[in-house]
Amino acid sequence: MLSGPSGVGKGTVVAEVRRRHPDVWVSVSVTTRRPRPGEVHGGHYHFLTDAEFDQLIATDGLLEWAEYAGNRYGTPVAPVREQLASGRPALLEIELQGARQVRARAPEAQLVFLAPPSWGDLVSRLAGRGSESADVQSERLRIAQAELDSSGEFDVVVVNDDVSRAADELVGLLTAPSPDLHQGAGAHE
Ligand code: 5GP
Repeated sequence: MLSGPSGVGKGTVVAEVRRRHPDVWVSVSVTTRRPRPGEVHGGHYHFLTDAEFDQLIATDGLLEWAEYAGNRYGTPVAPVREQLASGRPALLEIELQGARQVRARAPEAQLVFLAPPSWGDLVSRLAGRGSESADVQSERLRIAQAELDSSGEFDVVVVNDDVSRAADELVGLLTAPSPDLHQGAGAHE
């Protein structure tokens, strides 16, 4: 499971994983956020209405869900179960509250934190994306600071200094045998 602050490049790293490692299965989340230009339904997300999202929660259809900067996001549970049952690794790209829920429900899940090379780098990437208003950007930066503070809760920190390198490191973690995932985790708990 990959988490990390908004603007760190999680989406770009996951896209690179898909491109270079098509064998890795990536979960498609549901969200009540409106699509950004270029985002397609069923590609980046399944874009749902509030009522549809409520329905998924009511029917226990989500592995986890969270509210983030005014919208809701969640991971449909059935496809994840199918993947894990067939023995293939599943990659989830989710924010901190969702990562904590997955940790509680599936302690064996590996939590990877994608970190920016520096705070300044994160600020300029978030501003440079240009897809959000100033208000939304500052809200996302506030959350990003809290998310950076939580990196100690994760099993591994991958620094996004180079997209291809970070993608390869992530796939290496996904496909490596993991006999002692939680070795050392006690230090944070
Ligand atoms: P964005 O609006 O930039 O696509 O995503 C906002 C945040 O929601 C990002 O931190 C992203 O990782 C997170 N996110 C995307 N899908 C999910 C999900 O299914 N569950 C949770 N908890 N967070 C998600």
